[in-house]
Amino acid sequence: MKNIYSVTKEDLEAYFLEKNEKKFKAIQIFEWLYQKRENNIENWSNIKKETKEKLIQDFAFDMPEIIKREQDQLTEKYLIKLNDQEHIEAVLMRHDYGNSVCVSSQVGCNMGCAFCESGRLKKIRNLETYEMVCQILLIEELIKERISSVVIMGIGEPLDNYDNVINFIKIINDAKGIAIGARHITLSTCGLIPKIKELSNLPLQINLAISLHASNNELRNQLMNVNKMYNIVDLINTIKDYIDKTNRRVTIEYVMLNNINDGIANAKELADLLKGMNIYVNLIPYNETNHLEFKKSTKEQILKFYDTLKKNKINVTIRKEFGSKISAACGQLRSKEVKPDTSSKK
Ligand code: SAH
Repeated sequence: MKNIYSVTKEDLEAYFLEKNEKKFKAIQIFEWLYQKRENNIENWSNIKKETKEKLIQDFAFDMPEIIKREQDQLTEKYLIKLNDQEHIEAVLMRHDYGNSVCVSSQVGCNMGCAFCESGRLKKIRNLETYEMVCQILLIEELIKERISSVVIMGIGEPLDNYDNVINFIKIINDAKGIAIGARHITLSTCGLIPKIKELSNLPLQINLAISLHASNNELRNQLMNVNKMYNIVDLINTIKDYIDKTNRRVTIEYVMLNNINDGIANAKELADLLKGMNIYVNLIPYNETNHLEFKKSTKEQILKFYDTLKKNKINVTIRKEFGSKISAACGQLRSKEVKPDTSSKK
């Protein structure tokens, strides 16, 4: 049975029309779920009994549960137990401009990036829309504060769970839903070309971030399996088309791995690749994990890389480091909880 938090307002309107009821009921229900935050349908005072009975028959109302909270000054990390006992994680980051949450889109991930902890634990399943929506609802309820921006950069490849992720974005973006502006929502992908094309046709003004992490095919093949399917040249061309079509600036993410991809020659090669595009590069200091051998680049190397891009007229920023003390790097909290060999069997 579909969970009520998986349903977009448009789908709920269609549901009511089909039941010969007025479609504005969808708005009333969205108000209970997302404005009054009332999960108990018994308390929906302006909804009549027969409608409630239909809803209870047709939808599930249960939510996942936060079972662990780790925090440092600016970051909190949550381990969330889903209704089938699987675990995911979400991270809250406090910025001077507001709270942002990094949500997971899958249980595990199949993309197999060499440096990433999430990929060590293979994908078990996609998250349902409600399991993403509830990451926001549960955190807001716990911290009693509003979340002003969302990054889909947690565990999983969002474009490998396209429909559920798009519905998630529609619900959190809906003015009657959680009402987070599209410009405050960022989707990060390792580069699934057909899905990036599909995304460019949607009338959603969200931000797109591409995990590039390498300046040529040889290097990217070593770091990211996905490059063997969708290579860097085709990916860059796809991003160019995306920018043309949407008129939106795209973020290029580049994780700084010591002596792997952080040389000046790589910076120059990257600048050539991105020349003239409406993008900016976000350099990400690598978050070291216990299980993988990669090391983070030195501060000096990151700055040299940064300067080289700047000199070559590429917009570039260095990402502020969050949560390295509380295992906030992708997949680390979940991987403490779940043994890789048991989770990869399915
Ligand atoms: N699958 C999507 C989104 C999840 S990963 C994607 O690939 O974009 C979010 C980002 O974190 C990606 O850029 C990923 O490459 C990066 N990442 C993974 N492990 C990391 C680590 N240990 N330190 C820093 N960034 C990491």
